[in-house]
Amino acid sequence: VYIIAVTVAWALSGLANAGSDGPLDLEVHRFNLNNGMDVWVHVDARAPLVATAMRVDLGTADEAAGLAGSPGIAHLVEHLMFTGSPAAPDGAHDRWIEAAGGETNAWTEHDATVYTTVAPANALDLILALEADRLRGFSAALSERDVEVQRAVVFEERREIEAAAGGTNMAVWQAAVFPEAHPYHWPVLGTVAELEQVDAEAVRAFVARRWLPPRLRLIVAGDVDPAVVERRARYWFSEIAAGSPVPRPEPTPVSLDAEERWLWTDPEPQLTVLWPTVARDHPDAAALDMVARLLARDGSGALWRALVAGGPRVERVDAWQWNGRLGGYLGIAVHTGDADFETVLARIDRELLRLSRTAPEVAALASIVRLRRAAWIRHLEDPVHRADALAKCGAASGTVRCLALEMAALRAVTPADIRRVVDVWLLGTGRSIVSSVPMDQLGRALTDSSPLVLP
Ligand SMILES: [Zn+2]
Repeated sequence: VYIIAVTVAWALSGLANAGSDGPLDLEVHRFNLNNGMDVWVHVDARAPLVATAMRVDLGTADEAAGLAGSPGIAHLVEHLMFTGSPAAPDGAHDRWIEAAGGETNAWTEHDATVYTTVAPANALDLILALEADRLRGFSAALSERDVEVQRAVVFEERREIEAAAGGTNMAVWQAAVFPEAHPYHWPVLGTVAELEQVDAEAVRAFVARRWLPPRLRLIVAGDVDPAVVERRARYWFSEIAAGSPVPRPEPTPVSLDAEERWLWTDPEPQLTVLWPTVARDHPDAAALDMVARLLARDGSGALWRALVAGGPRVERVDAWQWNGRLGGYLGIAVHTGDADFETVLARIDRELLRLSRTAPEVAALASIVRLRRAAWIRHLEDPVHRADALAKCGAASGTVRCLALEMAALRAVTPADIRRVVDVWLLGTGRSIVSSVPMDQLGRALTDSSPLVLP
């Protein structure tokens, strides 16, 4: 499984003392183990459940630092971590959680690998024991056969994604906006040629310097007693050695001097415009997130009005600010239907100029904040989402008040900020445009588009 999440942009600067934000201000009991592992406990007694999110600061972007190229080994390890240990052999992890009435999930992003579990609250100790067992017993149990089997699973995952309409979108966008030297250029699933070179020894070497307690944050959310969680977490995890993790790659600013145009074939026609922007902790991240929402919001967004409700009447328009710890981009994707690509691009440019010249109403910004907050509150209804949200925003900010701070950053965006970030990040720089067209409609692509080759 892999996911490239669209992170909500936010910035910490000057917001450390932001006020309470009701349901988004989740109370967290936090402690550290001697080996550097960070544990957060959030009591949520609405249902007799416990949800955990184990977030490892290790993703696709960390591959380049230690290996030639980027063979997708982080994602392969995510799969292999379910294959067993001497204590829980042959996929027992999943079976035991299911027998206890729970379920597990996992995914790999560019910056992290995440394992989640939800189960009846009395399964807390089983979950902690199995999460610790992943670290403890993994290398001893790993066989060449495990690597072969999971590599075949990954190749099948890749074939399914390539066959689906829009399935390669994320990989295409990352490749189009980040240059080859950037860790975000490479797809989470890796490349076939390089994955074929990976053996059990390479996996062990990769894990030994990265899958270590200083890079782990465990979130436990649910109907639990923090004192019990702390006692049991210390019991299961304290003896795991801290090790000496390799340093993570440094943030690398990306800019494009001019406009690059790419041609990609996909069953679904789509025009995507991408601008390199900022990493997640940049002060402009929240304003860029707001720009994306102002543009594409259904029913009132400037691009929705110009492209869906009127004009060329495309099927849908999306806009988002994607940002990780190393960099980010703003994307506008138009599901064009039969509309002409040049016309669509001209409308996008017109609306961006308009946003640069005419500041949006304060009321429009407030409305975006309200929607965002409501979406968060609904999202947090699910205990697993709650644990994952804390793990994710915690990794970005290092603070337990991360959700409230994220909202505070959005609230702090002014109409003048919107105009400024449009000028600086969208109108003042180069960009990358991808014309995705069906095989029999290549002529619809923007002129001078070069075929894009995925890594
Ligand atoms: Zn997978």
